[in-house]
Amino acid sequence: MDTFTAETRSRIMSRIRSKDTKPELAVRRMLHGMGYRFRLHRKDLRGKPDIVLPKYRTAIFVHGCFWHSHSCMKGRRPASNAEFWNDKFSRNKRRDAANLKALRAAGWQCLVLWECHIRDSESLHRKLATALPKRHI
Ligand SMILES: [Zn+2]
Repeated sequence: MDTFTAETRSRIMSRIRSKDTKPELAVRRMLHGMGYRFRLHRKDLRGKPDIVLPKYRTAIFVHGCFWHSHSCMKGRRPASNAEFWNDKFSRNKRRDAANLKALRAAGWQCLVLWECHIRDSESLHRKLATALPKRHI
């Protein structure tokens, strides 16, 4: 039997899957190494972006391939309980799109980084360097 209330359980689950994940830490390390300053999980911004660079008005979302239905292998939907998952993933996808649209409308540059792409640190570096102005240290 589950010893947590549904609400607590759902809070725990959402923390597990959305905060301080390994890919997110990799992006933070890379940004830090490039000399950028950033804030984390700004609740006052639509969609609570994982990483925010206020100075460059840039919001970064680190998406897990499974939960955000990436078009890669890891983003494949489970075969059982198809209806439940389709429904859930469609909602996630719609919410992601609405969040990006709202942030962009408010003048934010949004960067979506996929878990499976982050492993390639060279390409990650290139993506960040392209999106962000050069730092003059
Ligand atoms: Zn992926």
